[in-house]
Amino acid sequence: MSDPTENSEFDLSAPPYGVVVRGEFVSVKDGYDFMDDVFKNNECPWCHSHNWDLILRATEIEQDQEDGYVVYTTEHYVDVGNEDGITARPPAQPFTYPMFLVICDTCGFTRTHSLLSLQRWKERRNAVDEGNRLSGEE
Ligand SMILES: [Zn+2]
Repeated sequence: MSDPTENSEFDLSAPPYGVVVRGEFVSVKDGYDFMDDVFKNNECPWCHSHNWDLILRATEIEQDQEDGYVVYTTEHYVDVGNEDGITARPPAQPFTYPMFLVICDTCGFTRTHSLLSLQRWKERRNAVDEGNRLSGEE
């Protein structure tokens, strides 16, 4: 897969291009590295494109969400009533899931992947890098 971060005019390996997961900053660059390392098939099932956009951080809905996870909201309303029946239909609370989006650049087909899996992958990669660094020092 071509790496869109290579020719970017922005440093996609540093804030604000990423999200904090379990206290660790995970960058857009990490996301693309994860896809390169883990995905065995990166062809879009609908249009056969191999170019994907990646969105790690996408919410303005709840300002107090420190990590800006992708948020799914529903338009449904919750019935609130008394013995006489329904009296109000306030909107349901939005739910937040620690997910990131992978979007086909050509047809827009969108997949979600767990940010926790991405963060665990980065943790394992960092441990391997640290091991290599230490063995290189001997
Ligand atoms: Zn597609």
